[in-house]
Parts: sequence; structure tokens; C-alpha cells
Amino acid sequence: MGVTDQRDRPGWADGPYADTRADRADPAERADRAGGNRADRGDRQLTALSELARLVADGATRRSQLVTATGLSRAAVAQRVDLLIGKGLLVETGTAATGRGRPPLTLRLASDSAVVCAVDLGATHSTVAVAELGGEVLAEATQELDIDDGPEAVLTRLHEQLGRLLAASGRPAGHVRAIGIGVPGPVEASTGTVVRPPIMRGWDGYRVPDFFAGRYDAPVLVDNDVNMMALGEYGHRPSAAHLLYVKVGTGIGCGIVSGGVVHRGASGAAGDIGHIRLPGHDDVLCHCGNTGCVEAVASGAAIAATLREAGLPVAHVADVVRLVAAGDPLARRQVRLAAQRIGDVLASLVSFYNPDTIVLGGSIASLHDDLLADIRAAVYRRALPLATRTVAIETTLLGRRAGIEGARRLAVRHLLSPEGLSRFLS
Ligand SMILES: [Zn+2]
Repeated sequence: MGVTDQRDRPGWADGPYADTRADRADPAERADRAGGNRADRGDRQLTALSELARLVADGATRRSQLVTATGLSRAAVAQRVDLLIGKGLLVETGTAATGRGRPPLTLRLASDSAVVCAVDLGATHSTVAVAELGGEVLAEATQELDIDDGPEAVLTRLHEQLGRLLAASGRPAGHVRAIGIGVPGPVEASTGTVVRPPIMRGWDGYRVPDFFAGRYDAPVLVDNDVNMMALGEYGHRPSAAHLLYVKVGTGIGCGIVSGGVVHRGASGAAGDIGHIRLPGHDDVLCHCGNTGCVEAVASGAAIAATLREAGLPVAHVADVVRLVAAGDPLARRQVRLAAQRIGDVLASLVSFYNPDTIVLGGSIASLHDDLLADIRAAVYRRALPLATRTVAIETTLLGRRAGIEGARRLAVRHLLSPEGLSRFLS
């Protein structure tokens, strides 16, 4: 499902792509629109253009819808829409004349001279996609690699992969307007710098956008892979506004989307829930140096270790999944215990953050029959009724595609921001 699928949804104006809502609520942008002292006319114009472009990305197809959603006059909307059409960001098809059988004028994001690239970089693979601004994926491929080969080697292979996909989709590099990259480690998102990653040998302090600077004339947005997955899931859940994406695989991590925007915290560490302490497990040492971390007790790696000690043939998390799927009672028992412990942590998060949606992802999420019931039970038992009344606890809709979808979404979102439009329109 892409952005285009949202177009005919009723209530699009405050609908699924709440980025628009969130941005409209942004105090700085409100001040800009109100003519704040520091904002000049150019900034206000870019903000207004961004708002219109994002409404179209969210599914608005008629000028009248833009008038209603923005409160701008018909003439003001027309002037700005015409500018965006002239600059090649929007296209309008159909006819203005009314009459039977004539399609009405329909706005959408242009696709003939602009694409975005989305990258999901893992410890052992990279998936790269070339997509139209409206969401349609033109080409996509996955290749195996080793993240520990270091940034220059890994990014060179990514660049080659991207070149092949652009060629396959018939697009020159000049059509690439933004690149979104999810990486398996902490990132200072404002600069795209990898910061002290637990894996990713050789990447500490590396600024990923610098690699692409001479290769593409496009902004490069880099974020942690779990944040990308959270953003991807958010985009496919029309009713979600405050979402937690909890990845349970070898480790445990969490991405937070608040009002349509990824919440990264002061230094990008928000959502690093794997090292929250579980009472009663002080005998379990975590790789971080502390004891009793939920990741050391209830992650896929922890379950695998427990089963190995019991003599079962378990090397990886995939073996845990296989054993549970085959009905092994000890494996099922350990997964259910882990679910209860993860649920205890999530109960605290629900009380603290009051999400409307919790999405479970990661390799363990495929065991949803065994996981969900125990996680839900723990959350409902521990969190307060006001916070649990509306929270939906579900498994991933996108599975392995969540990361690439989030990267695509982040790239488009940036392109349609005032900053992105400033570059695009100049
Ligand atoms: Zn720890």
C-alpha cells in the first residue's frame, strides 16, 4: 500500500499521514505562518508550499480540498499549486470543464523527473529501492553483505546496487531527489553520523551523507533501522497517531512515532528499551555490563541461549522460531515467559507514553500466537485503565519491508518539507 492508496479515503485531511497534522501543529511553523518576527516572506511561502504538497501526498486530489484544509483563499491555493506544477513537483490531469464522462481535475505528485531512494541496511544484507514520490516502487533488490567490512566498502556496494536499480527503472541519477537510509545502530540523525554502534565495526563517527555528497545532488537522511521500521508501520496505520514499534529479534529495541514524527530524544537514544532493568534477574549479565536487562532476559538471543543450555539444537533466533512452530513445549514455554517479561516493560511504557498503537516486529514477531496473548495480558494487568483503554497491540503489517518503507517515507517527507522544497525549487 502506498500513499496513492490513501487518496479516496474519507477524512483524508486529518487522516493517516498525520505528518501533515503534526507539522501544522509545530509551534515554529505556526509562528512562521502567523508572520513571526524572524520569518521572512520566503520562509512563509516555503512553509505554505510544503503544507500543500504534503496534503497532496496524504491523498488530497482537488484544489477545493486544499482550500478547505488550509483555510487559504481559492486564489492563494491556485497561485501556489500552479507554482508547484510549474516546478515539476505536482501534476494535474483531467479537465476543468464539467460534463458527463469528463474526468475532473486531479492533483498528484509528479513522477517523471523525481524519484527517491530507500535503503535498509542490516548486519548481513542491504535492500535498496527506487520509488516514485507517490509511493510506487520502480525497482528493488536485496544483496548480502557484511556490515563489519566498514563504511567505505559497504557504501560502495550500496552505491553500485543503487546504480543498477536506477538503470533498471530507466532513471538517471539526476532524478534522485532524496535518499533515506536505515542502519543497524545509533545515529545522530541531524548529521547522519553513526554513533558508538554495538555492531558495525569501523563505523563509529562516520558521516554517511558525506559518502554520497559527490555522487548524488540529493539530501541523504540517515536513521536507526528501528526508527525507520516504526515510521513505515505508522504510515500504513490510518488510525495511529502515537505509535511504539517494538522489535524483538536477537536484541530488543523500540521506535517511537509521536504525532507523525519520529521521537529521537536529546541524543538519538530514545527507544533504547533493551537495557531497562527487570526486577528479579540480577543474576543475568547483559553485554552492556549491567545485569537484569530485558534484552539479556527476554530477547531472541536470550531464549536461544536458554534452550541451548537445555540441550536443544539452537544456534540462532531462527532455530527458536522453527522449534516453536514445530510445537516444541520447552521452546514455547520460554517464548511465553519472554513475552510476559516484555509485557511488563511495555506496561511501564504504556503508562509513560500513552500510545494508541504498539506494533511488534522482528524475527520473533512471527510467533504472534504465542507472543501476543501474554504481552497483552501483562500490559492490561499492569498499566492503568485510562492508558490501556484505547491501545491496540498488534504484530507488524509490513514484516521485513517495514524498514525500507520507513526509509522511503522519510525521504519523501524531507523532500516535501520547507527545507527540501527550498532545494528542489531553486
Ligand atoms: Zn544491558
